[in-house]
Amino acid sequence: MNPYIPKAFPFDPDHKGHFGKFGGRYVPETLMPILLELDEFYKTIRFEEAFWDEVYELSEHYVGRPSPLYHAKKLSAELDATILLKREDLNHTGAHKINNTIVQGLMAKRMGKTKIIAETGAGQHGVASATVAALMGLECEVFMGAKDVERQKLNVFRMKLLGAKVHAVESGSSTLKDAMNDAIRHWVTNARDTFYIIGTAAGPHPYPLMVRDFQAIISDEAKKQLVAQKFDMPDYVLACIGGGSNALGMFAHFIEEEKTQCIGIEAGGRGLESGEHGASLALGKPGVLHGQLSYLLQSDEGQVEEAYSISAGLDYPGIGPEHSYLMEEGKVRYDNVTDDEAMDAFVWLSRAEGIVPAFESAHAIAYLKKIPKEELQGKTVVISLSGRGDKDMIQAMDILKDRL
Ligand SMILES: *Cc1c(COP(=O)(O)O)cnc(C)c1O
Repeated sequence: MNPYIPKAFPFDPDHKGHFGKFGGRYVPETLMPILLELDEFYKTIRFEEAFWDEVYELSEHYVGRPSPLYHAKKLSAELDATILLKREDLNHTGAHKINNTIVQGLMAKRMGKTKIIAETGAGQHGVASATVAALMGLECEVFMGAKDVERQKLNVFRMKLLGAKVHAVESGSSTLKDAMNDAIRHWVTNARDTFYIIGTAAGPHPYPLMVRDFQAIISDEAKKQLVAQKFDMPDYVLACIGGGSNALGMFAHFIEEEKTQCIGIEAGGRGLESGEHGASLALGKPGVLHGQLSYLLQSDEGQVEEAYSISAGLDYPGIGPEHSYLMEEGKVRYDNVTDDEAMDAFVWLSRAEGIVPAFESAHAIAYLKKIPKEELQGKTVVISLSGRGDKDMIQAMDILKDRL
């Protein structure tokens, strides 16, 4: 059985994309026919074996899946627990994002589109999209906030090297949320030949469902690897949350496990009380952004507020609607970790295991030290190591210059 074929879960959304009251399709009328076309198309391939055979082929031989489940023995000894890392950092292009862009790229081809567009914050999703565009012979345009273009020069160059065109978006705060607005606008007028690849489990239906389906391979593999490597079902499963795609992929097959508590880690930035953070679930309120209803950082007047995190991938004021639902249903626990705690974990994992994590993933690692020691003792923990730290080296050099 091809493991990439999505499974239907009890917490799937209804046919209009509602996870409880969250999700949906809050978009201008001009966008509706395009989303309905995509929705119809997704229904035809969601369980079609021939389509997933192509995904299987590329995932195994191009992306490098399955990603290892690695027993981190030094961390385990230090904490007197069994710590297992799901190594998404070893995927081609260095993170989990390619799991999603491979499938959406194949969808674009099947739908007869010749161009793809993507939004990007730090540039990781832009790079993963430009990569599949090169692989599949599609034209690629990436929308990126002007501020991020400046901050992430290396990724901008990488996208250009891969043949993509990068648009620096000057509107609003010139960051990710504005890039996504512009990408949606561009799509409305170019949908005939253009496919929009969204990079996280957010946006209007069917994107949150699609992206969750495409990332669920992470926990499908992890569960089988636990059995094959003779580990217990985990007591905890941890993942960091930007829009929430690596977390949903890591949680999907564990949520219904009675023994397992899934915990999503948001960006605590400079501390929740500082006002500079990305903790949409902790401090946001339900609101509409990018075509979905979900928790959102907003002012009392409903203006979207800027998020902040040391890690650009967690720096998003919204969150995928499925997380809002899972939180309100009490199925998943959410907490947060500050910049400083994440940086400590960045150094800790590098030195203990010889693995340099992405700043985002360091948030999930840091949470190990926030669980009381007595509570952690003897437990089994699976952590989504969503990406590698290569992209963060220049920033790390600056932040850690007095420490190393
Ligand atoms: C983009 C990114 C994230 C955050 O995105 P999610 O959709 O929340 O997973 C986390 N880790 C890495 C390495 C990323 O590149």
